[in-house]
Amino acid sequence: MKRYGCGSCGEAFNEREQLLDHADKVHQKKTIYMCITCDESFDKESAFSMHVARDHKLF
Ligand SMILES: [Zn+2]
Ligand SMILES: [Zn+2]
Repeated sequence: MKRYGCGSCGEAFNEREQLLDHADKVHQKKTIYMCITCDESFDKESAFSMHVARDHKLF
């Protein structure tokens, strides 16, 4: 199950590194973490992880 969504184009990835690599190459700007469960987005991974753990009981 893919967990990391690109906040710029909505593409989803299994690994954080894949999202970072994608954001770097395709968008050439800082990564925005997008929750693929509810489409909310976060600029910090810590905020994203907290959201997923608390609101979706995942991770
Ligand atoms: Zn993207
Ligand atoms: Zn969410």
